[in-house]
Amino acid sequence: MEFYLKASLKTSADPAAGREEIAKIMAEAEKGILEKGAPVGEGAKIKSWELGDSWIDVELTSGRYVRVHDAVMRLKKALAENLGKSQKIGIRGIEAETFTITVPSDRDLKNKKIPYVKSVEFKDGQLILTLEVGEAEMRNQVPDRILTLIEDKLEQGGYGAKAEHWNLLWESGDKELLYTNDPTEDMLKKGWLKRGSSRGQWIHGSVTTRLFRMFEQIVFDEILKPLGYDEMIFPKMVMWDVWKHSGHAKGIYPEIYYVCPPKTRDPEYWEDVIDYYKVTHEVPVEMLKDKIGDPIGGMCYAQCPPAWGFFQGETIATESLPILIFDRSGTSHRYESGGIHGIERVDEFHRIELVWLGTKEQVVEITQKLHERYMHIFNDLLDLKWRKAWVTPWFMAQEGIAGIAADEVTGTTDYEAPLPYRGPEGEWLEFQNVSINGDKYPNGFNVKSQSGEKLWSGCSGVGLERWTAVFLAQHGLDPEKWPPEIQKRFGGMPKQVKFL
Ligand code: ATP
Ligand code: ZN
Ligand code: MG
Repeated sequence: MEFYLKASLKTSADPAAGREEIAKIMAEAEKGILEKGAPVGEGAKIKSWELGDSWIDVELTSGRYVRVHDAVMRLKKALAENLGKSQKIGIRGIEAETFTITVPSDRDLKNKKIPYVKSVEFKDGQLILTLEVGEAEMRNQVPDRILTLIEDKLEQGGYGAKAEHWNLLWESGDKELLYTNDPTEDMLKKGWLKRGSSRGQWIHGSVTTRLFRMFEQIVFDEILKPLGYDEMIFPKMVMWDVWKHSGHAKGIYPEIYYVCPPKTRDPEYWEDVIDYYKVTHEVPVEMLKDKIGDPIGGMCYAQCPPAWGFFQGETIATESLPILIFDRSGTSHRYESGGIHGIERVDEFHRIELVWLGTKEQVVEITQKLHERYMHIFNDLLDLKWRKAWVTPWFMAQEGIAGIAADEVTGTTDYEAPLPYRGPEGEWLEFQNVSINGDKYPNGFNVKSQSGEKLWSGCSGVGLERWTAVFLAQHGLDPEKWPPEIQKRFGGMPKQVKFL
């Protein structure tokens, strides 16, 4: 890996008068300012330099340490200090005439549009990126971010992209599962629900709604009340700012539903749209595109990020820790990829999100208790066949990163259950997860504790569609065949509308 920069430092007067000092600075730099902070011999190198009548040209190369854009800033500083004092010559700015990064690679990155990258060439097992950057970009580490981006792309796009990490933690005993239909098909036949007019959206009738509410009540009675969670209401339109802090801005674009406000709410501005509709009975979508503003964010995707605005920039009193909260105030939305047919993978879903925040010890202990409560619910109440697996942390997955967190504690546990209608070897469905997110969120949203101890957090998303899908897929639609405790809590079938 090599950085190459040919830069021109613009001077306020002919630098010839300072030639000797410049020569001295250049001669000493490689063992001095250009090596500071790097292992011996691994700093930036000066390939050549020459003087013009109002500039100093310099050619630099480097590896990972003291990269050329950093090196040129150091040179500028040293030159400016010396020439300023002795010759009253100032350095006005730096122009990068040629800036390339050469990275070993086994393949081309064809047609990738990367900001500040003019061209990408693939030759002899190397990618040569030619950058077009100014002094501001060099100062703001843009070349470093470009290198990281390229390295991520090379790592992830390799032969058979890295699969999500998956490691079995626990598995329930085998169970005989008698019902093998697709519950969504059966629910449709029984009129429990109907398709909504949007993709991956359902209108839940009284029965599935009662099921959702029963599951919610179980979460209340068995978890939220005994463990002391307080309810909050998290926003459901999420602005870019929140996703920048949470890291979602790095990856979720293909999967979010975008939110655009009207450019104005002046009725006159909208009159042509209104008139068009009245005359044609068609909504003029093309016209609308011009009249709405840029997307300001998206619909709720993961439930917890917008909660952090409540704590952002604050120092939390020791007596308030740990904080245990939950939200069930609205829907989550994801533009899922094809094959959406049942209620298990939908574009609009309902979830209770639990969030906890405290010291590392507090967070680990809370998470432990939560796992125990869930175990009780799935074994003793819902009587499911299920398992738990240690997977790529959800926040990494949603930033588009595979792999696993560096420590053994931070990470996500997926709860999965088989869907018998998919066959004995069929896919296991993730119906919820529990995560310890380490200090990621307190860091990202700048939240501190009174004691100065680092704050950690965790979260868990209870997907009501997923609980329903798994429960019905294993137990069927006949309440009389459900586990007795669930029959009791369900409280009998609600009234259903009869259609003729
Ligand atoms: P999957 O891999 O099954 O798509 P995911 O990894 O995208 O799941 P997370 O991002 O971890 O899921 O979301 C947390 C929880 O939200 C899931 O465990 C599930 O209960 C629920 N959930 C996520 N996506 C959907 C969806 N499209 N439909 C219904 N529930 C969902
Ligand atoms: Zn969360
Ligand atoms: Mg998903």
